[in-house]
Amino acid sequence: MPVTLPPLPYPLDALEPHYSKENLELHHGKHHNAYVVKLNELRPDATDDTLVQIIKTASGAVFNQAAQVWNHTFFWNSMKPKGGGRPSGALAAAIDRDLGGYDKFRAEFISQGMAQFGSGWVWLVKDGGVLKVVKTPNAETPITGSAVPLLTADVWEHAYYPTYKNLRQKFLEAFLDHLVNWDFAAANFARA
Ligand code: MN
Repeated sequence: MPVTLPPLPYPLDALEPHYSKENLELHHGKHHNAYVVKLNELRPDATDDTLVQIIKTASGAVFNQAAQVWNHTFFWNSMKPKGGGRPSGALAAAIDRDLGGYDKFRAEFISQGMAQFGSGWVWLVKDGGVLKVVKTPNAETPITGSAVPLLTADVWEHAYYPTYKNLRQKFLEAFLDHLVNWDFAAANFARA
């Protein structure tokens, strides 16, 4: 079975007003879906089960489409209705230890997201046992290297323009303050 567009983990209007229904409808139904369709055109043998293997081995157009399929699914799961705020438990302790506390993490995540010139992603990852905030350009994804992603925000312009127009920083602030799914990040942290 070819790679499929996963359903969103919440209704289209569930992230209002911090992420508009129109924004989510376009981003999932048009942008994410287009990556799925193009990947299946390029690699008719690709399946949901082989997606990660393709990302780790492909290059060029196939890599770009496959990584964008995976990154977007990870991004949907990095948000939830009534999300945001501070993490707790072991993940919070690791953020204190490795990143100097939540406030410094928040500033660093926004700073890295703003520093990504053009399109890309900002991530909280665990790499070599240490938490780091990293950015990647275009479709690049930490899963091709040693880092395990815990959460991500899409900083392609299409990710925030319908809700925030040109104000990427407002989107990143709302992502952290109202949308981020720390339960998802904590589950990834526990497995990393
Ligand atoms: Mn996107």
